[in-house]
Amino acid sequence: MPSYIPKAISRPRPYLLSFTWADDTTDTFLLTAFRDECPCAYCKGETIMGTTYSFGIKQFAPGMNELTALTPVGNYGIQATWKDGHDTGIYTWEMLKTIATKHHLTESELNELSEKE
Ligand SMILES: [Zn+2]
Repeated sequence: MPSYIPKAISRPRPYLLSFTWADDTTDTFLLTAFRDECPCAYCKGETIMGTTYSFGIKQFAPGMNELTALTPVGNYGIQATWKDGHDTGIYTWEMLKTIATKHHLTESELNELSEKE
């Protein structure tokens, strides 16, 4: 199994998502970052053969950063369903690893967040 496929996915806090990888390392990051990285054409725009057909539209919607479900898609990734009804974002395992690495929160950042609760 490639090392970028998470062994476990958890929600340590309502606003956090945590992936545990094959090597037992864990990356925890904010759900808002996860939503920001939504890879669907609606959020990121779509470029086909060098032409951009739609530009990413970022609009605030109530519940947009509240995750309601993560559904496995085949054996290549997961689909996120958000409380605002958005569910077209399919994150491949490679994308998850990239997002987790980019938005990884350190232990002290996590402590700071929990102090604000
Ligand atoms: Zn999207």
